[in-house]
Amino acid sequence: MLSIVMSIDKYLYGKDVKCPVCYAMFQINKIRGRRLKTIKKHDDLYVTYEDINPIHYSIWVCPGCGYSTTEKEFYEIKKTEISIIEDNVKKNWSKKDYNNVRTEKNAENTYKLAILTGQLLNKPKGYMGELCLKLAWLYRDIKSTKEYDYLLHALNHFEEAYQHERLPVSTLDELTMTYLIGELHRQLGNYAKAIHWYNKTLDHNQIKTKRWMQLKTREQWSKAKAQYDSEKKVK
Ligand SMILES: [Zn+2]
Repeated sequence: MLSIVMSIDKYLYGKDVKCPVCYAMFQINKIRGRRLKTIKKHDDLYVTYEDINPIHYSIWVCPGCGYSTTEKEFYEIKKTEISIIEDNVKKNWSKKDYNNVRTEKNAENTYKLAILTGQLLNKPKGYMGELCLKLAWLYRDIKSTKEYDYLLHALNHFEEAYQHERLPVSTLDELTMTYLIGELHRQLGNYAKAIHWYNKTLDHNQIKTKRWMQLKTREQWSKAKAQYDSEKKVK
């Protein structure tokens, strides 16, 4: 156990944070990105690394009141929203501290808390989709079938974001979101829709600036086409 903690320490450093809701001071763990060694790049852009999973540490959770968001959103809170968190989260908060080394279960809880905060504050669909996608990835790691529930939630949010929101939302630009909508359709077995969204990705005016995505989309397009054809044969 000690050696695991020590190796994790290599990747984490503390940062002092003050909660904009309850003014509690606490320390969160941030990732030293340059030390990460990639193990695998998944088709839906999940990247797994040696020793540590950075997405375990993406959500900041205030131990004083339970307010939970990504780092980028943390200070983006209005006065009216603060009272929503006070009335709906802080009141029932058990003062659990998530700011140590996070287990898979702890990480899962932080995403559920962030999704709750996001629902209460009516956060953009693109942001909500990203939370759901990352929670799906956590379920993938522990081989839980809940992965597919959250891939579907992510897909629904992204489709709404694509139609109604100004992109980029959160870290996703329009091109990446278009690709992801296609890929999530494919993973959920909607091959015709996947092909439609991959075509949209390949026709996007930014595609020439991201050569790797162009290649990846072509590869996934062929995969989806083969899956579509073999499904048609069975029927
Ligand atoms: Zn707080």
